[in-house]
Amino acid sequence: MAQPNMTAGKSTKKLLRTQRSEGSHWVGDGFPVRSLFAYSNLGPMISPFLLLDYAGPLEFPPTRKRLGVGEHPHRGFETVTIVYSGEVEHRDSSGSGGRIGPGDVQWMTAASGLVHEEFHGRDFAERGGVLEMVQLWVNLPAKEKMSPPRYQGILNNQIPALSLPGDNGSVRIIAGEYDGVKGPARTFTPINVWDLHLTGEQPFCLPVPEGYNTILAVLKGSVHVNGSDVIGTAEVGLFERSGDRICIDSAQDATALLLSGEPIDEPIVGSGPFVMNNADEIRQAISDYQSGRMGRLS
Ligand code: MN
Repeated sequence: MAQPNMTAGKSTKKLLRTQRSEGSHWVGDGFPVRSLFAYSNLGPMISPFLLLDYAGPLEFPPTRKRLGVGEHPHRGFETVTIVYSGEVEHRDSSGSGGRIGPGDVQWMTAASGLVHEEFHGRDFAERGGVLEMVQLWVNLPAKEKMSPPRYQGILNNQIPALSLPGDNGSVRIIAGEYDGVKGPARTFTPINVWDLHLTGEQPFCLPVPEGYNTILAVLKGSVHVNGSDVIGTAEVGLFERSGDRICIDSAQDATALLLSGEPIDEPIVGSGPFVMNNADEIRQAISDYQSGRMGRLS
């Protein structure tokens, strides 16, 4: 008779490494950013995710100036902006745009290319206040990189929020599925984007599919995982693909994003605002942008 398979059923994804952002930089004059991870050094370990910039929290005095970053292009991926405090206004060459505030999400598919601008919301800038937001870049598979651009403005009240097990806080399901509840964002490959507010000190586990790359990005507070490892403020933990859950030992007043997704097993070649599969496609993107084929802001 065969031995019982002790690995069947639940197995915990191991933490492979933690990473802290090295300093901060300004994106335009509106976004003081710490880059929590980037594909340039982590590539396949974080696929299908490419980059996570954490802006703020920083208090801005009232101004009538437009703070942010003016017209620039993107091709080959999606930018996902999640606002925690303040307001962000966006306008792009496909005719989409909008203003998002605390709890809202802008899921912009650049795909074949567009140009856009990103500024503090006008009213917020005139009032002044704390800006805190993240921008996540999500890669597209080769066959979707030249799809038409798409825009999803997702409001806080459209995002389901559930309690975590054992009175440990709450999870907002922006994309993917948790405990049978689906998030509103439409994605090209299987992805979970969960916004966690961790308030408890009891250990608990979250289901994450086998084979998915998994990243816990801690924005505020700190989170203990795997018995002893601590992921601190503005740090990320990268977990192995094998296993079907991650386990959190304790967390005190932490805000964190749990990102997981099926890896896109394709080459990544990027340059600034373009992320494609090879150097020829990057040259084409630069040429298409310069000749106006990604559109213009009217
Ligand atoms: Mn942009």
